[in-house]
Amino acid sequence: MLTRAAVLTEFHAPLEIREVELADPGPGEVRVRIRASGICGSDLKAIDGKSPVVSQLPFVLGHESAGVVESVGEGVAALKPGDHVIIAMSGPCGRCRGCAGGEFHLCSGPARMTAIMGGLPRMTLDGAETRRFIGIGSFAEHAVVSERMCVKIAKDAPFAAMALLACGVVTGVGAVLNVARVQPGSSVLVVGCGGVGLNVIQGAVLAGATTIYAADIAEQKLKLAERFGATPVQEFPQNVDYAFDATGVPGVLAKAFAATRPGGTTVMVGSPPRGQNLEIDPSLLFASRRLMGTQGGDAAPLRDLPMLAAQYMAGRLDLDGLITERVPLEDINAAVERVRQGSVARSVIVFD
Ligand SMILES: [Zn+2]
Ligand SMILES: [Zn+2]
Repeated sequence: MLTRAAVLTEFHAPLEIREVELADPGPGEVRVRIRASGICGSDLKAIDGKSPVVSQLPFVLGHESAGVVESVGEGVAALKPGDHVIIAMSGPCGRCRGCAGGEFHLCSGPARMTAIMGGLPRMTLDGAETRRFIGIGSFAEHAVVSERMCVKIAKDAPFAAMALLACGVVTGVGAVLNVARVQPGSSVLVVGCGGVGLNVIQGAVLAGATTIYAADIAEQKLKLAERFGATPVQEFPQNVDYAFDATGVPGVLAKAFAATRPGGTTVMVGSPPRGQNLEIDPSLLFASRRLMGTQGGDAAPLRDLPMLAAQYMAGRLDLDGLITERVPLEDINAAVERVRQGSVARSVIVFD
């Protein structure tokens, strides 16, 4: 079928709204009519030619989405047309070493590896194979994805809010609940209050942290952090139980690490550029401090996304407050620019 997509045809250039040919879903796959897709920092990185998995153009970005199942391929049993779904960033195989140990975020099955590299050949632009971000490519009216990546949601759950769960929200909240395992009553420092950092704050609230500090160089983001339950600080407080760095800047991470108490935990949530070094005083590590990394909040999509959707429906997770604007696909380039300038928390592409 033909569908409209925002296509990356040249790095550092605006996306082009084009008609692309999308194949029917193959065995184990479904076609989803995309209803909402958030613009994430890693989409911008790819536009700038800085993503290691986006090298061959044309390419369709977008990986934080929700929509409606339109058709299903052979052997799909868990989903049927009309189901509302979030498309998760991974569909763990259940058979590799990572999955066998319950570490679904470390799935190394062949389907996951293929998805990371742009997915199976399912889309063409003027006859040229067009890869899709993490095998999704949700800056398009339709996506063909593995059924394993789809997490069913209630039909009354709003698509824009649900889309955000797939990347930014599960990364931030997951860093708190799955990685640091923040304990009730503890103190937390969050550095960097963009899309992910705000969700670290929300995760800390959900975990029952009683003191949550937020640091950011942008005054506007600190104001938002306050709305989500954090106390803005100019200087890092010392002796906190947990620190989260959502900036990906090594010097900032080192400072956050030094702000934890002996036995405290620091999690790097941000994605740092390759090839930089982190300088920390090893005597701080010696005092039982822990320094941890995470990929996407160590999420297990089928476990975490329904939990987060339920928290939202119960009024305990603010997703609407994260959405600064909803824009149609035609206006994606202007929205990308606003995300780049840091003037929005999340910009969501919505489809009728
Ligand atoms: Zn993302
Ligand atoms: Zn696996």
